Amino acid sequence: MSDSFDVIIVGGGAASTSAALTLQNRGKTVGVVTNRQETSSLYKAEKVTNYPGLPPMSGMELTALFRRQLEECGAELISGRALSVMSYGDSFGVAVGSDFYLCGAVILAAGITREKLYPGEGEFLGRGVSYCATCDGMLYRGKTVAVVGGGEEARQDADFLEGIGCKVLRFEQNGKYEICGGLKADTLLFGGEEYKVDGVFIIKDTVSVTKLVPGLVYENGAIVVDRNMATTVPGVFAAGDCTGKPYQLAKAVGEGNVAALSACDYLAKRG
Ligand SMILES: Cc1cc2nc3c(=O)[nH]c(=O)nc-3n(C[C@H](O)[C@H](O)[C@H](O)COP(=O)(O)OP(=O)(O)OC[C@H]3O[C@@H](n4cnc5c(N)ncnc54)[C@H](O)[C@@H]3O)c2cc1C
Repeated sequence: MSDSFDVIIVGGGAASTSAALTLQNRGKTVGVVTNRQETSSLYKAEKVTNYPGLPPMSGMELTALFRRQLEECGAELISGRALSVMSYGDSFGVAVGSDFYLCGAVILAAGITREKLYPGEGEFLGRGVSYCATCDGMLYRGKTVAVVGGGEEARQDADFLEGIGCKVLRFEQNGKYEICGGLKADTLLFGGEEYKVDGVFIIKDTVSVTKLVPGLVYENGAIVVDRNMATTVPGVFAAGDCTGKPYQLAKAVGEGNVAALSACDYLAKRG
């Protein structure tokens, strides 16, 4: 158990920054689970010319401004990927790697995940497919595992798994993978080859919001919310691209503000 907050925000982009600023103004303790700023959609924008109050600038510059504001606003930044959000009666538990954080309300501001799930990924998640080597690695000690993913985190996770005695097959993230099995995943298909494995670790930058919170309702891949940015799970709010079109900065920032105010109302009523 690590820490406890009034509100935890998942994601560290525009919607999240807006929500964190408002929550801080309302005197709430805030944890922001955020991965690298380069993963924000905004980072890729060549030039943003439709955001009020700021001159035209590149997405990279604007992302850096948002991130600095987030760092300076008093919220606690928790580096990493949120892996799951579980409801525990009146509170929520958010798993980030092998750490676990408690809070009274959650705001999902995770943007859109363009990466599709590999065939079999969702079906075998928790049954041979894992997103976290630190959490689940020990289950595969002495066994053969595949690590699918590029980047530093995937390399470190593969090294860690080797260090605890797994036989590790390393694969890059981009590729046509398929995970098969019976009760548990036991085969990874790739490039016309069949790899017999005991587990598959998939290390991406994000976790699809559809896998993050049990019980959320989606429409066309977007989280269904009402005008208060409340999702179908009481105490869980959502803002920004993850609630659907239009994918625009001003909309994300506005929704972050509404979600924060709604989370404050929820906490006040809950007592
Ligand atoms: C090429 C391009 C150009 C654009 N140009 C414009 C423009 O000119 N004007 C405009 O208004 N809009 C523009 N947009 C859209 C704008 O960038 C988005 O609407 C805005 O960034 C959405 O903000 P957000 O906070 O919802 O998501 P994001 O900014 O994408 O932030 C979400 C963050 O949460 C992180 N995250 C996701 N899941 C997890 C997890 N499980 N754990 C931890 N972190 C997680 C993501 O990696 C990401 O860093 C453009 C988008 C693109 C791709």
